[in-house]
Amino acid sequence: MTKHIEAASPHTMNTYARLPIAMERGQGCRVWDVNGKSYLDGLGGIAVNTLGHNHPKLVPALQDQISKLIHCSNYYHVPNAEVLAKKLTEMAGMTNAFFCCTGLEANEAALKLARKFGHDKGISNPQIVVYEKAFHGRSIATLSATGNPKVQKGFEPLVEGFIRVPLNDIDALKKATEGNPNVVAVFFETIQGEGGVNPMRIDYLKQVRQLCDERDWLMMIDEVQCGMGRTGKWFAHQWAGIVPDVMPLAKGLGSGMPIGAVVAGPKAANIFQPGNHGTTFGGNPLAMRAGVETIRIMEEDGLMENAAKVGAHLKAALEKALAGNPGVKEIRGQGLMLGIELTKPCGVLTERAAEAGLLLSVTADSVIRLVPPLILTEAEADEIVSILVPLIKTFLQE
Ligand SMILES: *Cc1c(COP(=O)(O)O)cnc(C)c1O
Repeated sequence: MTKHIEAASPHTMNTYARLPIAMERGQGCRVWDVNGKSYLDGLGGIAVNTLGHNHPKLVPALQDQISKLIHCSNYYHVPNAEVLAKKLTEMAGMTNAFFCCTGLEANEAALKLARKFGHDKGISNPQIVVYEKAFHGRSIATLSATGNPKVQKGFEPLVEGFIRVPLNDIDALKKATEGNPNVVAVFFETIQGEGGVNPMRIDYLKQVRQLCDERDWLMMIDEVQCGMGRTGKWFAHQWAGIVPDVMPLAKGLGSGMPIGAVVAGPKAANIFQPGNHGTTFGGNPLAMRAGVETIRIMEEDGLMENAAKVGAHLKAALEKALAGNPGVKEIRGQGLMLGIELTKPCGVLTERAAEAGLLLSVTADSVIRLVPPLILTEAEADEIVSILVPLIKTFLQE
């Protein structure tokens, strides 16, 4: 008999407008619900399931780790934390990492680093430049840094010390910070995720790097969503050939295990001293193993290259299939982080796509977002197009 899933749940808080679907298992880029219906996964747990589901190399490694040691506290060394930090810093051209469990936690740490960077040089009221449409998380500090009034409403007073500027406008950034000696950092996503898949331009990234050097600001890039190989480079800002001073990571880093990291270069690596920051679960043996194995498998199987190749294929196929349609405003993004902006709000497509067997999300009201596992094949990309395009066309005629 078909199991009926209520839209609202009686005992968990009403924090998500969930679809009436409950997932049971996954394999590769597919998941199955409790009624046996299968879905092609164009969402990847919101850019989290780097290796898809039930990966034949990841699962045995995690099983091995669970049977050895899950958690032991940060009073002791966790050897894989050192392995993962070394690897991440080499990938990023940076020097040290701090481990935590989520994206907002990584961003909190970055904000604390920026404030202490200021205090250490005698700035008692440090200010951090943030961006319109940014999303950095839902703690009080990170929602204050976020550029979406919907995320902030009801949780005022916001944390002070942020200066907000528009994307990709170096003059606006200079003007907003003119003559202000309290600015300590610029903080942004290379490609905004929740804000609607909005990329920072390469020339702008270079200009901000230069400005940060000139003024001794920290360049802090939130790669929580766009990082970890998704765009075809380890980190999306690497397309501009720049290196930030602070880089929060999370989502795809552990292929589903909760893990976050802040990676820092020489300007920020020694700001925290014992007692300045910490987190009980951060850097635990199970999460560290997931991070180490995720990167190892990505390298072994060429998944970053796959993301670039299949992402380009998917984007071209969507462009071709939707060409000349005035209801499609823009198709943008890079690698396997793509957004299709329509001319009207299209939240209903989340549900219709699921009905048709495809998982995706709609963000910023009118942007269909695809952030599938990096193991996606071209055949699976074609399948996404064949399910999604008719839904979009029908929707635009309504
Ligand atoms: C998802 C996201 C966050 C928040 O991560 P959580 O793990 O949900 O706290 C922060 N920044 C960006 C860019 C994100 O996409």
